[in-house]
Amino acid sequence: MKEELYTIPVNDAFAADCECPLCAMRKELEQNAIEYTMGPSYMEDDNRALTDEQGFCMVHIKTLYEQNNRLGLALMLQTHMMKTTKDLKALSAKKPAGSGLLKKDKTTTPVWTYIQKKEENCFICNRVNHTFERYLHTIFHLWKKDKDFSSKFKNCKGFCTYHYGLLFETSKEYLKGSELDSFLNLLNEVYFDNMNRLAEDIEWFINKFDYRYQDEPWKNAKDALPRSIVKTNHTILDR
Ligand SMILES: [Zn+2]
Ligand SMILES: [Zn+2]
Repeated sequence: MKEELYTIPVNDAFAADCECPLCAMRKELEQNAIEYTMGPSYMEDDNRALTDEQGFCMVHIKTLYEQNNRLGLALMLQTHMMKTTKDLKALSAKKPAGSGLLKKDKTTTPVWTYIQKKEENCFICNRVNHTFERYLHTIFHLWKKDKDFSSKFKNCKGFCTYHYGLLFETSKEYLKGSELDSFLNLLNEVYFDNMNRLAEDIEWFINKFDYRYQDEPWKNAKDALPRSIVKTNHTILDR
């Protein structure tokens, strides 16, 4: 089966006015996943089996609570809690042996293993991650095949540190030899140049708190803080 490519959202994100196109892609995917979760989908058995199993992470449960569908969320949490309780009741019957003077019991109980797995899972995160993987694949496909994309890549506003690292790390799975070499050279150039640009913006932002600079123009510094937060925390704040 031919693997699906997502050339439109990837091209759009690289053309967008954003400090990290990969963050922009994730944000879009996240918004879609939230709308999907709170839409009629939660009444479908397949989806409900997934939300019962995976639940939601700390970040996304807050986002879901802020949406306008308290009944939908209550229904999802009701059956999620029922499943958790049923599963844990079965697992908790197996109790640990405990520690003696000489030997500490360091085995993980099935209860804790189950709960840790639950902590790592989130219906929204999983949905986002699945498509994001395909977006990443598409970036390297476009890099190899599409000259216009390479120039978009070169002219974008750089990347957050996390996604710079992700591109650096995964490029070796998709490219080799001189192709990999020129990708990494450009990736480094785009990342470091744009970090420098932002460092200047944040410096000017700080200067503006000094009375000596009060009457100077803001230049590009007015939103330097939220833009820096994209670079440092791969987080696009809702403004
Ligand atoms: Zn990013
Ligand atoms: Zn999540």
